[in-house]
Amino acid sequence: MKIAIVGAAGRMGRMLIAAVQAADGAELAGGSEAAAHPDMGCDLGELIGGDNAGVALTSDPQALFEIADAVIDFTVPTATAAHAALAADHGTALVIGTTGLDAAQQGAVDAAGEKAVIVQAANYSIGVNVLLGLVEKAAEILPDVYDIEVLDMHHHHKVDAPSGTALALGQAAAAGRNVVLDDVACKSRDGIIGARPRGEIGFATLRGGDVVGDHTVMYAGPGERVEISHKASSREVFANGAVRAALWACTQKPGLYAMKDVLGL
Ligand code: NAD
Repeated sequence: MKIAIVGAAGRMGRMLIAAVQAADGAELAGGSEAAAHPDMGCDLGELIGGDNAGVALTSDPQALFEIADAVIDFTVPTATAAHAALAADHGTALVIGTTGLDAAQQGAVDAAGEKAVIVQAANYSIGVNVLLGLVEKAAEILPDVYDIEVLDMHHHHKVDAPSGTALALGQAAAAGRNVVLDDVACKSRDGIIGARPRGEIGFATLRGGDVVGDHTVMYAGPGERVEISHKASSREVFANGAVRAALWACTQKPGLYAMKDVLGL
């Protein structure tokens, strides 16, 4: 399967180059970056300190969507919305890892799912996808006297907050309680805000250093607290999961899929 990477020189993009090169059945078809990127034209293998891969970093994503069976996108929301339109035009599978999409950008992704295979996940690690199921189950079992708080900590370069994974964990908890997250979410607190409403799902965001991604869902009840945590120590888990999703996507019918579909959970 020919797999291309958009945003190939980013933190995740570089991990993805290595993951595609290492995966059985995958061939690195190319990589793109924003037009002004300083590494434009570099060989993708040399970009990550490896052997020449015979494919250069381009600013033309359309060319990638024409030749690839699947494209992997860990970029920025504006670029992801444009890539979703290209996936629909060319019928190319697209694996989206970018987080922080607004409603219009998400709409572009949803529309592309009618014409192409789109896999979208806030987190491609197997561990977090297992965690999502555990969080939903715990929220279903524990009554709403157990206050749910979702914490995430990431490196200081991260631009969106709460993290996409924290929001997905909040969605899972809300699903377990049979409520709509937007109706009960509290994404920040400051000043004299009064007592915590029962049933609220709160978020707390920590940023600092080089933390790859820590998440904890807390159920704070009377006299006890349950905490379910996941800590990623390497971006490799996301890259390997995304390549697995890309290989899977090449054999599916058009539609919008999640990582749990890829994993058969
Ligand atoms: P990063 O800033 O290191 O990389 C993003 C790259 O996209 C940059 O190199 C940037 O130049 C490039 N880019 C911007 N516009 C572009 C365009 N039009 N065409 C091509 N490339 C373009 O960020 P990162 O840490 O690699 O994270 C990228 C995204 O992936 C973020 O939204 C992050 O939250 C998300 N992420 C998701 C997962 C997951 O498992 N789903 C895991 C890690 C990160």
